[in-house]
Amino acid sequence: MKYDVIVIGGGPGGLMAAKTAAEDGLKVVLIERKKNITEINRACLQIFYIRKLSASRAGLHGDGYIEPVSLEVNDHTCRLHFPVPGFSLDYTGPVKPYYNWIEVSPSGYPIYRRKDTVWGFFYDKEAFVAELLALAQKAGAEIMPETIGMAAENTPDGVKVRVRGKAGEQTLEASKAIAADGRESNIVDSLGLNQKRQQLTPPRRGGGLVACELEGLETGLPSCPFVTACIPSIDPSPAIVTIMMGQMAGDKNILFCVSEEVLQNFMKHPSFAPWFRHARVVKKTATAAGGSKYGLLTAIREPVEGNVVVVGDAAAPIETWTQGAVASAYMAVKAIEKELGGQKGYPEYIDWWQKAFYFHKPDYWRMVFGMFTLANAWSCDEDVDYVYNLFQDKIGVPQIIIEENLELIKKGRPELYERLKKGYEEAEKMVPKAGS
Ligand SMILES: Cc1cc2nc3c(=O)[nH]c(=O)nc-3n(C[C@H](O)[C@H](O)[C@H](O)COP(=O)(O)OP(=O)(O)OC[C@H]3O[C@@H](n4cnc5c(N)ncnc54)[C@H](O)[C@@H]3O)c2cc1C
Repeated sequence: MKYDVIVIGGGPGGLMAAKTAAEDGLKVVLIERKKNITEINRACLQIFYIRKLSASRAGLHGDGYIEPVSLEVNDHTCRLHFPVPGFSLDYTGPVKPYYNWIEVSPSGYPIYRRKDTVWGFFYDKEAFVAELLALAQKAGAEIMPETIGMAAENTPDGVKVRVRGKAGEQTLEASKAIAADGRESNIVDSLGLNQKRQQLTPPRRGGGLVACELEGLETGLPSCPFVTACIPSIDPSPAIVTIMMGQMAGDKNILFCVSEEVLQNFMKHPSFAPWFRHARVVKKTATAAGGSKYGLLTAIREPVEGNVVVVGDAAAPIETWTQGAVASAYMAVKAIEKELGGQKGYPEYIDWWQKAFYFHKPDYWRMVFGMFTLANAWSCDEDVDYVYNLFQDKIGVPQIIIEENLELIKKGRPELYERLKKGYEEAEKMVPKAGS
């Protein structure tokens, strides 16, 4: 074999896989469809979450990697620690603490998803990815940009990966492959792994976001927040939220909206226009949020098929987060090394994968579908204002606070109560059973 491992995808997961495998002495090639590998064109708020998020309904929810991690901040560098897999990574880019996740109604009534404690750090993902790439190259990994992984096929003694680059199509061969090509992975599809997943919502076109970087934003909100809002008057069919806005590691803010039109309407909305009085847009891009070519699928329960191991978002329903992508890549390489050495590594990887991510638990889906319920239940801004006014300043996940206090809404707005109640009942029917 020319290679021990072919890695498909050069996001955080793929680069971590290539770096780890090359540092351990394996012959690695990484293929990435982008020309500039370190350019991030997938939506990401660039938060490194350090609080262990509870997987209980009463607790605080997260959708990604639930094992504890920590960040050690020194004078000129940071060190990201992943104690369960057992590795650390240096990062020399900027960081900024992240304290609050505030969900505001159209008139500005807040519910705090997270408050006052340091929940994580905003960091510069392009800098982080560039450092991983440099380490992978230093360790000897071969990098093939502008090359698309089309399909993988297991053979009796390895794997063939069909790729398409500038020079046309070719087939690469290796003992093992790691699929790290993100959501809607070609490699996962070619191996038939999507057929083993439960489809929870039908396929839908679109799935992109407009990402806008701003300087001089003045929200007047408590420091370093991540803000979300659902505003029916400017976004009549919100999938979940109308805007997502985070601070960036420097002095900038990042704002995600479903379309340019919604972004413009948000900036002109009477409640939010004052935030933009002195703001300047420094960068605007269209970004992939995830797409939904296949609809919303449950996670791949067993992300190994023959000689191919799947890591990061390629095996997740929505996202593993960057930290989950690098953790799974590290674990996958260690599993592959055991297999190459004649031991069994895959069962351990599968077992770890099923425990390390919240999306294997039904409560994760209650959270996701609860968000859909709310977005679909609002018919006008007054609906959202009425409910957020009732629960303003509470700390918790809005859809859970609202569900647990539906009777309060019944008195003042019986018709809205009925819509919400029906929505929650529908959402519960969509929640997959544990283990599916
Ligand atoms: C709105 C939003 C906000 C988010 N905020 C955060 C956050 O604050 N913190 C956080 O940790 N995570 C966040 N995430 C999630 C995070 O972006 C992902 O979980 C993470 O990037 C997953 O890494 P990955 O390497 O598995 O996949 P990706 O980052 O998607 O990387 C996949 C790579 O594979 C390449 N590729 C795709 N197909 C092919 C192919 N066929 N051949 C070759 N190359 C291919 C892509 O170009 C890409 O470089 C957010 C996601 C969204 C949608």
